[in-house]
This record gives sequence, structure tokens and C-alpha cells, in this order.
Amino acid sequence: MTAGDMKLVVVGAGGRMGQTLIRAIHAMDGAALFAAVERPGSPFVGKDAGELAGLGPIGVTVTDRPLEAFVEAEGVLDFTAPAATIEFAGLAAQARIVHVIGTTGCSADDDAKIAAAARHARIVKSGNMSLGVNLLGVLAERAARALDAADWDIEIVEMHHRHKVDAPSGTALLLGEAAARGRGITLAENAVRVRDGHTGPRVAGTIGFATLRGGSVVGEHSVMLAGEGELVTLSHSAADRSIFARGAVKAALWARNRKPGLYSMLDVLGLN
Ligand code: NAP
Repeated sequence: MTAGDMKLVVVGAGGRMGQTLIRAIHAMDGAALFAAVERPGSPFVGKDAGELAGLGPIGVTVTDRPLEAFVEAEGVLDFTAPAATIEFAGLAAQARIVHVIGTTGCSADDDAKIAAAARHARIVKSGNMSLGVNLLGVLAERAARALDAADWDIEIVEMHHRHKVDAPSGTALLLGEAAARGRGITLAENAVRVRDGHTGPRVAGTIGFATLRGGSVVGEHSVMLAGEGELVTLSHSAADRSIFARGAVKAALWARNRKPGLYSMLDVLGLN
């Protein structure tokens, strides 16, 4: 750790993103791994976080006591599960540290709790921390604004690895929100998240989703705008989870000197 480095905690340290975050912090300037947290009873507790992430020993032992880690740290990177993220949001607010949330699948009730915690804490939350997807969101918003809803149908298609537990993906929903913004409508009232059986014809102005799961796919997303006789497809492929991890570290560094509030990656990347 170099003087001035932001002291970061990775929660869910043994997970796919947890291990990727440990490697990203190790490789990036301006940040240092201060602690790594897993749930009580996890086989990773007591292990060296660097060994877990394939870096060799780095002298940070995985703990199951988040609050003890948070009070001495400056930020927490959280790619876990909604119930854990809500708990961590309360603890991060208590410790007055930055909370970067990549966890997806949060309910409206979870999101309300996160917004409440953001009254005291600096929270950056995004369904996708990569530059490319956030740029894709900006492009989708513009396209949706430019193309008349009566003539152009918007469909969002995504594919992820077989272990993913929520659907549609947080990124697909982020892109849907962007398209809805472009059209001046709410996604909640206009989304068609699944189709099955005799659905009848497509309702104009809706935003449809299709979810594919399989293999080891890191993340494929397309926003399709289908008109009479033409189709516009905007898409993004993630080849490697490190794009999300680097984005999360960047978000923590960005939020370090901000006022409490709920921010998104669009704020971090200056795309807002
Ligand atoms: P994963 O491999 O299942 O990792 C989740 C980790 O969190 C696991 O190690 C899990 O431990 C741990 N965890 C759960 N509850 C915990 C608790 N109370 N305390 C401490 N650790 C806890 O999943 P992943 O693929 O890394 O994805 C994690 C989340 O990030 C998902 O919601 C995913 O959609 C999201 N994600 C977001 C982005 C983005 O850019 N925003 C990118 C990729 C993934 P157990 O195994 O013991 O439960």
C-alpha cells in the first residue's frame, strides 16, 4: 500500500467478481486492498485474499466481520446478492465510507433501502460498470428518442453464463431504462419481461426483453430497434470480467471526495 492509496474492502471476495476485483485493485494505481469479506461459514474465511485470486499471498486475510473492516477503510466494492448488499449499505453508511454496488436483481424495496442509505453515504450503483455498456445506454436513449414509437419496436436481448441467478440482467434493465428515458415513458409500465404461449400481437410502445443463459458467456447485450423493412442493432460484448472490476475501482476513486448521494456510472464516466 502506498501513502494516499484509497483503502478498499472487497465483499463477496470468493465470488467470480470478488476475485476479479482483488486482481484489479492489485493492478491499478491509487487504490489498495485493505480487507476482504466473505459470509460466516464460507470456506474462504481465514485464507489469504491474494491466493484466492491467483496472485499469491498479499497479507490480507479474508474475514467474516464486515463492520470491523469497514470502519478503518474508505470504500467497499460489493458484487454479491441483494440481501447482502442491503446489509452492507447500512454498515457502509454507519462507517461513512464509499459503497460501490454492482449487485443486480435488487427489488424496488431493496432500491428504496439503498436510496435511504445514500442520505448518509456516497453510493455508486450500476447494473454494469463498463464504459462500453454505459456508452451503449446513451446511444440507445438517443435512438429511442429519434425513432417514433408507433413505427419502431424496441427489443433487448441478452445472454449470460449458466450460473447467473437473476433475469433480465441488470445491464438489460439499464439499457431498457435508457430507451424508456429516450421515449419519455417509464420502463416499469412498458416493459414486457417474458413472453410465453398465445401472447397476441405486440403492443406498440412496449420495450421487450429476451433472456438467454448458457456456458461461460460473460455478457452479451443487444438493443434492437425494429421498423417496417429495417432493423437497427446496437450491441456490446464483454470478453472479460475485468472491465467491470476496473470500472468499480474507478467509481470508488471518483466518489472519494463527493457529497453523500446515490450516483451512477454515467456520473463517474461524465456521460450524464
Ligand atoms: P458469485 O460468483 O456468486 O459471487 C457472489 C459472492 O458474494 C459469493 O462469493 C457469495 O458467497 C458472496 N456473498 C453472498 N452473500 C454474502 C454475504 N452476506 N457476505 C459476504 N459475501 C456474500 O456471483 P458473481 O458472478 O461474482 O456476481 C455477483 C453479482 O454481481 C451478481 O448480482 C451479478 O449479476 C453482478 N454483476 C454485476 C456487474 C456490474 O458491472 N454491475 C458485472 C458482473 C456481475 P456464497 O457463494 O457463500 O453465497
